[in-house]
Amino acid sequence: MSKIRMARSSKRGIQHGTGKRQKSPRKREESVILYKGLPSQQFSFHTFSSEVEIETFQKRLLAWYNKCKRDLPWRKLATTEADADRRAYAVWVSEIMLQQTQVASVINYYNRWMLKWPTLQNLAGASLEEVNELWAGLGYYSRGKRLQEGARKIVSEMAGHMPRTAEELQKLLPGVGKYTAGAIASIAFGQVTGVVDGNVIRVLCRIRAIGADPTNSAVTDRLWALSHALVDPAHPGDFNQAMMELGATVCTPRAPLCTECPVRQHCRAHRRMEKELKDSTKRLIGRSASKCSQVLDVEECASPAGCCSLCLPPSELWDPSLGVTNFPRKTAKKQPRIENTATCVLQRRCHEDKPEYLIVQRPCTGLLAGLWEFPSILLCPGQEKQHKATMAKHLQAWVGSDVAVGRLQHVGEVLHIFSHIRQTYTIYFLNLDKHEGNCKMESALPLCRWVTKSEFQNSAVSTAMKKVLKAYEKWRSTISVSKVTKRKRDSLCASEPALEADRSSSKRQLSLDSFLAPQPKN
Ligand code: SF4
Ligand code: ZN
Repeated sequence: MSKIRMARSSKRGIQHGTGKRQKSPRKREESVILYKGLPSQQFSFHTFSSEVEIETFQKRLLAWYNKCKRDLPWRKLATTEADADRRAYAVWVSEIMLQQTQVASVINYYNRWMLKWPTLQNLAGASLEEVNELWAGLGYYSRGKRLQEGARKIVSEMAGHMPRTAEELQKLLPGVGKYTAGAIASIAFGQVTGVVDGNVIRVLCRIRAIGADPTNSAVTDRLWALSHALVDPAHPGDFNQAMMELGATVCTPRAPLCTECPVRQHCRAHRRMEKELKDSTKRLIGRSASKCSQVLDVEECASPAGCCSLCLPPSELWDPSLGVTNFPRKTAKKQPRIENTATCVLQRRCHEDKPEYLIVQRPCTGLLAGLWEFPSILLCPGQEKQHKATMAKHLQAWVGSDVAVGRLQHVGEVLHIFSHIRQTYTIYFLNLDKHEGNCKMESALPLCRWVTKSEFQNSAVSTAMKKVLKAYEKWRSTISVSKVTKRKRDSLCASEPALEADRSSSKRQLSLDSFLAPQPKN
């Protein structure tokens, strides 16, 4: 064990890696919750049959994790940072960024964040504007805001020390739910507590053939109990990360790599798949299927068919084409809300004739809170037909006078999918005259500012708005190209009338030739 690891363990007051496996009282307590009320066979089918099996599972999973884990910046900090608060802060930032976002997209953001705000104190001193600027493009912007609020709370109310247990973390910090609290507490402080996120749900449902709807709260409770019972008391942080890593890299949603799986021997979904294959082969070679299923399989749930609250429901029979991905049960996705927004790229040329765009700040609550955007207006359903007029009216505030509807140029549409909204932006363009939208406007309307293109890119603007700017630039370049082409064509027409005449006569000749050509026989 490294010096750092030992120091960390003693600082936390938690026994780690002392050579012997520590049987934690917490683990025993959770196991009681897990087993309570379950008939013994059901206990072993959807949970684990013995402590020995659990220990084997832990050993195999951790050995694989230590060998195959991805090298990620937050993992490095979590193992090398000796200061408990700094370590917990590093884990906290990563966990918040990773919510609903892929690891590959997070890495750059994480590195930039930790470079800018390496400690809680640094983050507490940052402005929300700075946080939003760094977060721009990562989505779910309230996450950054909550991180900053949490850091301020820790610095001002907790003397700069992070809460040390999952329960306190969840209770005291904004934006920290049960999963994040468990992850921080186990990874940074070594608390023996399980975690359940999307990856863990998938792994557990497959490992223990849980086919009941995992979003059902009773099933979720069972999954939490299972994860608490499984966590390795000597290496809770690594174990939890290993479960998530397995779900992210091996036990993936659509194409799990079962042949590479370190815990395949424990996987009931895998055994079920093998059994189904065996049965269907037997059926093919003529042995009756009923004879096959007469043999009581120890790998089946002992509850009578349709009575177990964790098995695949009778209405969802095993689908051989899905194999292990029969688990977990797919839950019906809620359809996203459909919304339409009119937005306008408002341009002026002030300094050195460089184009500048107007951006306005969104309200500090709700979707994309506090972010900047082109002047936009959410259209009521049925109002779409008048949106040009609605937009023109909306722009009066920024232009300082009436805007004739005819001045707005239609650029096109951009679709952006938020987690729960399918948002279509109808884009307009308005080029202001010299006397319009002058610099006085900034003081009259404090929530707006004129920016150059590069300032726009570095501002706290959403991905949707970056798409709008891109669509506008594409439209503008098409317009310029067609203008140039038209000018060229006009000049060609003027200077080469004979050539045009030639062309049209050769076209006529071509059609005559094709008319006289012999027709192919059928
Ligand atoms: Fe997932 Fe396959 Fe491993 Fe089971 S054997 S846990 S289904 S990867
Ligand atoms: Zn069952």
